[in-house]
Amino acid sequence: MIRSGWNMPPGCFSVPGDEEGVCEVCCKPASACVCPECPICREYGNPKCYDGSYQPPLRLSREQILARQEARIEVARQTLLDEERFLDWAKDQGDGLTLYEGEDLPSALNTSLPLNPDPFK
Ligand SMILES: [Zn+2]
Ligand SMILES: [Zn+2]
Repeated sequence: MIRSGWNMPPGCFSVPGDEEGVCEVCCKPASACVCPECPICREYGNPKCYDGSYQPPLRLSREQILARQEARIEVARQTLLDEERFLDWAKDQGDGLTLYEGEDLPSALNTSLPLNPDPFK
């Protein structure tokens, strides 16, 4: 989905360990949502109130900005854990370590990224 002018933190909708649903705007669990009531449609945490779908778009509050950044960091932390887990797994393979395109890899590593991370491109 394209979200023009609306930079949702990656993985915002699947913060690990959360089963009750995550607010689409502040990325907190629904029960801890910090979004204010929209003065136009009276909704809480509706992205359309902020992305210009309705006019005028609302601005993010301080609490929302902080909560969204916390979510971004949590996602980055989970990504780091996955990467470290892959490194441990790869080391355990010893001299037999080889990766082939399309090969099933553990957890989130089932991508072609480990074949050629190329982080300095
Ligand atoms: Zn919210
Ligand atoms: Zn609204």
